[in-house]
Amino acid sequence: MTDLRITEIFYSLQGETRTMGLPTVFVRLTGCPLRCHYCDTEYAFQGGSKWSQQAILDQVASYKPRYVTVTGGEPLAQPNCLPLLIELCDRGYEVSLETSGAMSVEGVDPRVVKVLDLKTPGSGEVSRNLYDNIPRLNQQDQVKFVICNRDDYQWARFKMDELQLVGKVQDVLFSPSSGELEAAVLANWVIEDNLPVRFQMQLHKILWHDAAGH
Ligand code: SF4
Repeated sequence: MTDLRITEIFYSLQGETRTMGLPTVFVRLTGCPLRCHYCDTEYAFQGGSKWSQQAILDQVASYKPRYVTVTGGEPLAQPNCLPLLIELCDRGYEVSLETSGAMSVEGVDPRVVKVLDLKTPGSGEVSRNLYDNIPRLNQQDQVKFVICNRDDYQWARFKMDELQLVGKVQDVLFSPSSGELEAAVLANWVIEDNLPVRFQMQLHKILWHDAAGH
């Protein structure tokens, strides 16, 4: 069986990463073993409904998308996420996977763009980072730091250097933790330090203020 527990499937604009602003289907899988204090998808921790792989593929196809993002929760917490990623790639979509960085990405189809979080101390989940994932990233992948405060910023800079992320992945993304660190403050730090990172804000929050289905 390749069923998956799904919280929602919807069509919107990609709110983050390299493809920000591009129409994208989101497949949000239910469940996450982490509890980041700033989490904005707590509604995906439980509940959802069981979908067959075919039903998911049919729903995705109904939007006629070019881009598909598999997200959560933590999508890799469900092993059947891996065959779904393969099927999506086989159908010719440009597929990305948003993952917490706490689970192995070893079995992820190499055609998938992995957007991997490195959890900062401010998240409350820094101990969950699985650094074995870093050598498994390639040049199309992206690493994201959600920055809660100045200490997080300094920690992210250190990790970026220690793990030699620049050049290893397509983009290192720095995002302010919404409601916690003013976006302009983080933007100014990035400029002052001339960091080779991509500053980003969550487009969907600016447009739709976290309303469901976006
Ligand atoms: S990993 Fe993502 S979904 Fe899970 S608690 Fe953290 S922010 Fe929420």
